[in-house]
Amino acid sequence: MSPSDRQPPVRAVVHAPMNQFPVHDGQLVVGGMALTRLADRVGQTPFYAYDRGLLRQRVAELRSALPSGIKLHYAMKANPMPAVVGFMAGLVDGIDVASAGELKVALDAGADPVEVSFAGPGKRDVELRQAAAAGVLINLESLREVDVLADIAARDGRGARVAVRVNPDFELKGSGMKMGGGPKQFGVDVEVVPQLLGRIAQAGLSFEGFHLFAGSQNLRADSICEAQRKSYELALRLAEAVPAPVKFLNLGGGFGIPYFPGEQRLDLAPIGDNLRAIQDRARSELPEASIVIELGRYFVGEAGVYVARVVDRKVSRGQVYLVTDGGLHHHLSASGNFGQVVRKNYPVTIGSKAGDGEREVASVVGPLCTPLDLLADRMDLPVADVGDLVVVYQSGAYGASASPQSFLGHPACVEVLV
Ligand SMILES: *Cc1c(COP(=O)(O)O)cnc(C)c1O
Repeated sequence: MSPSDRQPPVRAVVHAPMNQFPVHDGQLVVGGMALTRLADRVGQTPFYAYDRGLLRQRVAELRSALPSGIKLHYAMKANPMPAVVGFMAGLVDGIDVASAGELKVALDAGADPVEVSFAGPGKRDVELRQAAAAGVLINLESLREVDVLADIAARDGRGARVAVRVNPDFELKGSGMKMGGGPKQFGVDVEVVPQLLGRIAQAGLSFEGFHLFAGSQNLRADSICEAQRKSYELALRLAEAVPAPVKFLNLGGGFGIPYFPGEQRLDLAPIGDNLRAIQDRARSELPEASIVIELGRYFVGEAGVYVARVVDRKVSRGQVYLVTDGGLHHHLSASGNFGQVVRKNYPVTIGSKAGDGEREVASVVGPLCTPLDLLADRMDLPVADVGDLVVVYQSGAYGASASPQSFLGHPACVEVLV
């Protein structure tokens, strides 16, 4: 065989290293506590645990990578647990909510209404009234929302604070979920924005800015930078017709975390440089504007684990199945049924045997009577037995609140902030 016939080496397709949780004496340590002890403290499995130290560290990393003056907002739909929202409220500059229910949690947590914004299609009249009364910034997503708020302003003399969520004429390339560009239920098409701005001025609402959210779960810094630049240009163009100066320019977020084999952590350095350049321009072009970045999973996703106990170990025609007390009903996304096209494994380990012991190929399943209830499909794992604790990493976002907990009548999971 001549050298030219040789195939290039195959890069092993593996998960990014999950080194955010240390291992001590063969146990994963979460929130400073060995996992079996934490399970005893919680008093039941399955549970989600979110690590305060990692949340704090993540916010600090972002603050040092991004220019000072960029406002960081937490999009709480990623993890609406009240204790998490309360903790995050003390670390970030604002909270983004997407329902009146989330608004309540954010306000209960002590978030400053000036720095709370409310986005989402189909805001009901009562939700708009609640948001206006709370004094939060309402990201308008339709002409109807302006009319409802105009009525409230006329009747109650309470002019709401509003921004316009723009459905841009471009997409965020490489996103797991696209939420802007083309026809969308989100925001107002850029072509319609001038008309909307006119109605805002007539209605006596307080215009404060623009919101652009192109997409979510993006691991490509260059795509994120491009979307931010285009969003800024678009906002600048639209700002020619605004009834009041732009105070908030929310450029979205979409920062992803590595879930699947082959994915790497996002490089923040180019995003920091890009935002610095945008901020420099904004100082003269939109002098009253604060630039806001809103992130959900990037803040909380890597700080959380889902923990379930092995209740049975079965071998079917040579394949090992670890049957646990947790599954799809608590963690829909790890089962592959929350938006994934092709099912892939989340990073998983046996947290009670996380040392250098023997390993085997095993599948981790839940107790539901459906083949969809799969947490790990033929993964290389530490050998586990009944009583051991399975850990699903990257579980701090879109976990408990995004799962059909009553499906099949198993007990609910518990969430702890440690
Ligand atoms: C869902 C959502 C977010 C959060 O997305 P992540 O991928 O969790 O960062 C932010 N902004 C808006 C408008 C959203 O709908």
